[in-house]
Amino acid sequence: MLVVMQEGATEKQIQAVIDRMVTAGFTVHRSSGVLHTVLGGVGPADDIDPAEFELLDGVKEARRITSAYKLASRSFRPGGTVVKMDGVEIGGERVVVMAGPCSVESRDQVMRTAEIVARAGAAVIRGGAFKPRSSPYSFQGLGEEGLRLLRAAADANGLKVVSEVMDLTQIPLISSYADMLQVGARNMQNYNLLRALGCQKKPVLLKRGISATIEEMLLSAEYILSEGNYDVVLCERGIRTFENYTRNTMDISAIPVVKKLSHLPIIADPSHGTGRRDKVSPMARAAVAAGADGLIIEVHPDPDHALSDGAQSLLPEQFSALMPQLRMIAHAVGRTI
Ligand code: PEP
Ligand code: MN
Repeated sequence: MLVVMQEGATEKQIQAVIDRMVTAGFTVHRSSGVLHTVLGGVGPADDIDPAEFELLDGVKEARRITSAYKLASRSFRPGGTVVKMDGVEIGGERVVVMAGPCSVESRDQVMRTAEIVARAGAAVIRGGAFKPRSSPYSFQGLGEEGLRLLRAAADANGLKVVSEVMDLTQIPLISSYADMLQVGARNMQNYNLLRALGCQKKPVLLKRGISATIEEMLLSAEYILSEGNYDVVLCERGIRTFENYTRNTMDISAIPVVKKLSHLPIIADPSHGTGRRDKVSPMARAAVAAGADGLIIEVHPDPDHALSDGAQSLLPEQFSALMPQLRMIAHAVGRTI
């Protein structure tokens, strides 16, 4: 159930409504918007008539949330969520660009990449230290050493860090180096991991599963939100279809669909979305035009010798050429980069 308080409702009135919802068996999640406080009640209370709550002082309206996901639905925070990472905001006016190698491979590789992407205007460096590879014989990542190199390269260039967490035992280690924890496509429905990420404070980048529907992605976000961490950024990274020219089929339409259904920011990953270097820039441009709140792009100083995803990694000069184009598109849709 959703209870929307009147503009200017007092703290006392809000607390009285929360108490009443708790007594009725709801777990209450509070969202304080610019005008209205919204109280999201999650619970088994199907037999409760929202009209009862409309009678309480300070309540504007009360209604059932009909979607399967509750806290992730747009109605919980009509104004949208801005996820803050110490100076970098995702979901605001600025389109945030995250860029870097698929995997952290060496000090030189990650340092060079950080300099290139920072100079071109990225705000966040990406790089995997723990890699979910299709084959157990492929490069699995440098582990903690990779995180250390990534952090050092980011700090030297004024960037934030996003890196993938593959299972819940890695959360403390990765949080000690990264500003944002990435849940990869293969783990979008690892519900124990999602719940554990909901119980900690670092923002989470939740990638769409390889064959997940938009509703399944929002339900996965709900696992994190329902544990109390509302700082979730969704990511469209392409889905598996019958088309095999590209590695995945990049679902650009997921961007406006999610914007309508949810208050959570959504970014796009045109690298995994296409798997082909020459298709990355066109899809990055399309994603910004479609309203993405950010991009995550693989960039490598020597992609032909990359230990993972070289074929989809942009050359430094391609990334530097893309950024001014993205700025123009962002401007055309009322955003900045
Ligand atoms: C990655 O970001 O390198 C990655 C493995 O992405 P995904 O989980 O989307 O395949
Ligand atoms: Mn990759």
